[in-house]
Amino acid sequence: MALLTGKTALIFGVANDHSIAWGIAKAFHREGATLGFSYAGEKLERRVRPLAESLGSDWIEPCDVSKDEDIARVMEKAQARFGAIDILVHSIAFANRDDLSGPYLNVTRQGFMTAMDISVYSFTALARAVAPLMRPNGALLTLTYIGSQRAVPHYNVMGVAKAALEASVRYLAADLGADERRIRVNAISAGPIRTLAVAGIAGSRALISEFSKISLLRRNITIEDVGNAAAYLCSDLAAGVTGEVHYVDAGFNVGFPLSDDAGG
Ligand code: NAD
Repeated sequence: MALLTGKTALIFGVANDHSIAWGIAKAFHREGATLGFSYAGEKLERRVRPLAESLGSDWIEPCDVSKDEDIARVMEKAQARFGAIDILVHSIAFANRDDLSGPYLNVTRQGFMTAMDISVYSFTALARAVAPLMRPNGALLTLTYIGSQRAVPHYNVMGVAKAALEASVRYLAADLGADERRIRVNAISAGPIRTLAVAGIAGSRALISEFSKISLLRRNITIEDVGNAAAYLCSDLAAGVTGEVHYVDAGFNVGFPLSDDAGG
């Protein structure tokens, strides 16, 4: 039997077929899940609708996660359609382009708050809104990056936001683990992948091309790699795993490869 047979998943964050959320959606579909999609705004519908339909989904709802009323409305619609939910994926981040180049020191109060609101608070807001709809053994998943732990050039305020997001994962895991439904909350920390969001970060092209030389597996990460790990984390195979940040980064976070002339 497939890993997610009988489960319903809401996927937030598909912008196009390069999105990490799309890699996750494809893996969930392959593993038998029923899918619903939410996207940021009207402009994206043209891209997201055909993708969702190609995986047999016709539940495609706009939701700007910076608006409480959008979150409330999308959950009402999810309940009306699906009744109960097993999985929610949050694959959303945003910071002003000006804050993703130059020194972190220059971030404005407004830029800081925007990054924190859309990239961090939205996960907690979605978790709170979906929790009443969740079945026992449900799973919430978000996406993070090692810029939360290390000062990665130009990642700047987004690194600060990801650190807060990872802390949110632990606090949400504590809250929802205490619930008798034992809902789990985890994050995947993905290696760099060329997506729309990453295109806004200064120097990202060079960072991605270097990555295949400096990761232990000497290769880049794909949205399919992340999708497969997400399918495990959101399935009952991971029933004992919560509050974790799971790295899908070809080993980059644990060390660096021997140079080719190191003789061994
Ligand atoms: P992406 O641009 O495809 O996805 C980002 C999504 O965020 C888009 O669908 C966008 O519409 C959505 N979004 C932005 N503001 C929103 C709002 N107000 N309301 C609702 N949705 C909103 O890029 P991606 O790389 O797939 O990013 C997905 C997640 O993965 C992000 O959290 C990102 O930080 C994380 N991540 C990406 C990488 C990478 O290298 N691409 C690595 C690690 C983590």
